[in-house]
Amino acid sequence: MKNLKINNRFTAELPADPDLTNEVRQVKNTLFSYVNPTKPSNPELIHASEEVAELVGIEREEILSQDFLNTFSGKEILQETKPFAMCYAGHQFGNWAGQLGDGRAINLTEVENNNEFYTLQLKGAGKTPYSRTADGLAVLRSSIREYLCAEAMHYLGVPTTRSLSLILTGDQVLRDILYNGNPAYEKGAVVCRVAPSFIRFGSFEMLTARNELKNLKQFVEFNIKHYFPEISGEPKEQYLQFFKKVADTTREMVLHWQRVGFVHGVMNTDNMSIHGITIDYGPYGWLENYDPDWTPNTTDSQNRRYRFGNQPQVAQWNLFQLANALYPLINEAAPLEKILDSFISDFEEDYKTMFLSKLGLFTSSEADDKIIKGLEEILKLSETDMTIFFRNLSQIKKEDSVEQAFEKIENAFYLPEEIKNQILDAWQKWFSVYLKRLNSEKLSDEERASKMNLINPKYVLRNYMAQLAIDAADKGDYSLIDELFQLLKKPYDEQHDSEKWFAKRPDWARTKVGCSMLSCSS
Ligand code: AMP
Ligand code: MG
Repeated sequence: MKNLKINNRFTAELPADPDLTNEVRQVKNTLFSYVNPTKPSNPELIHASEEVAELVGIEREEILSQDFLNTFSGKEILQETKPFAMCYAGHQFGNWAGQLGDGRAINLTEVENNNEFYTLQLKGAGKTPYSRTADGLAVLRSSIREYLCAEAMHYLGVPTTRSLSLILTGDQVLRDILYNGNPAYEKGAVVCRVAPSFIRFGSFEMLTARNELKNLKQFVEFNIKHYFPEISGEPKEQYLQFFKKVADTTREMVLHWQRVGFVHGVMNTDNMSIHGITIDYGPYGWLENYDPDWTPNTTDSQNRRYRFGNQPQVAQWNLFQLANALYPLINEAAPLEKILDSFISDFEEDYKTMFLSKLGLFTSSEADDKIIKGLEEILKLSETDMTIFFRNLSQIKKEDSVEQAFEKIENAFYLPEEIKNQILDAWQKWFSVYLKRLNSEKLSDEERASKMNLINPKYVLRNYMAQLAIDAADKGDYSLIDELFQLLKKPYDEQHDSEKWFAKRPDWARTKVGCSMLSCSS
């Protein structure tokens, strides 16, 4: 890979762990440990993204080379690089968890291309000092889910890490999918993912929890210098601006999640990026029927802390932990609290604009709150497919009668037999208010529809679609991975050959493991 321009800032500028052994341990006074990936026994490339390759400075022709396979499976290390695992801590499900760190992620290197910096990281590349009691590996199923979803999110316009490659290791990995005492061997895989950095809220929390304040200051300044160079002023003012930027980008990210119906599933502070990008795709899921209480994560099925409707509040809670971590540098609570307080009010304002735009309403009116709240309530009355409902809404014309408008979204109901009596009444009332409101908009039906179709995706990686790709891949057929990868590159386009993916979740997927229920086992 002749054009890869290695430029390691993280390891060059921040304190390294002097201990080069790979034993699981508490790693203090440092931000990372050097560690090499475990060599896979028989790597095989399943898929790679040409766009991401190009982004980081790898030529398309190089993707099929032995060099590419060896590098991104962890078999060989790039010249002039020293792979490393990051040390971080975090709050998991609301509780302080202490040191976590990259237990199975290994950063190969940072590269520079077209004046942008990218970290290339292998997930599932073997043990590190942070592996705790686990094996450092990843299975094919979860790797396919991460690989496809990150790229799908990117093309939806949702800030995210990217996926460069998906590679089978040739090794077997033991997993108890449902944590119910039924472990089985699965195929192992490694994903190479790409981001400006993989720094998390938990990276800062760790330094403060250990009272490593000199490192904290150095680390915050490192972040500002490289990732937020526009920040200036007195040191304290800079740290506050840094916090505000992270809060803003986090808010924008969650707003996108709510727009497209994405549920992260494990919003622990160690899974929150300081770049406001979606990171660590585990037991995530897509809303099929619109249910704000839904979470795909079986580990969270009791409390539903990370349910769809709670994501903005959790983001704020996580930012509160980051604020606590930065506090020793600022020593004043009020300005941090001010940023935290405005998080929810700003979110609500943005949410309103976003939700109205999903409805094709691009101006504001006094009736809007009622329209939004009313719709959120009715959508819950009987299972209604979020993606189909909003996409089909763009077909409604100003001249339509309530009945004509309603017909256009009927296909979104999972249980059409339920749509009668009070539920039908509620829908009709809502549509009559909506149609009136639509008529106060200046845009023509066509103009409105084309704007709406850039906001309401036609295709998302429905949970069952990923599962179908996994089932086929387990049998050695990777064609569906490529089909979905290509489909999801244009999620807002009508793709006539792919209408079958614009469909409600099939009945078999309603309760199938991997479709509606996912554990953290990966
Ligand atoms: P997650 O919730 O998947 O982001 O993981 C939480 C923590 O567990 C992180 O520190 C991961 O690196 C670590 N972890 C998860 N799975 C494994 C594994 N198979 N081997 C080692 N560490 C893991
Ligand atoms: Mg994680």
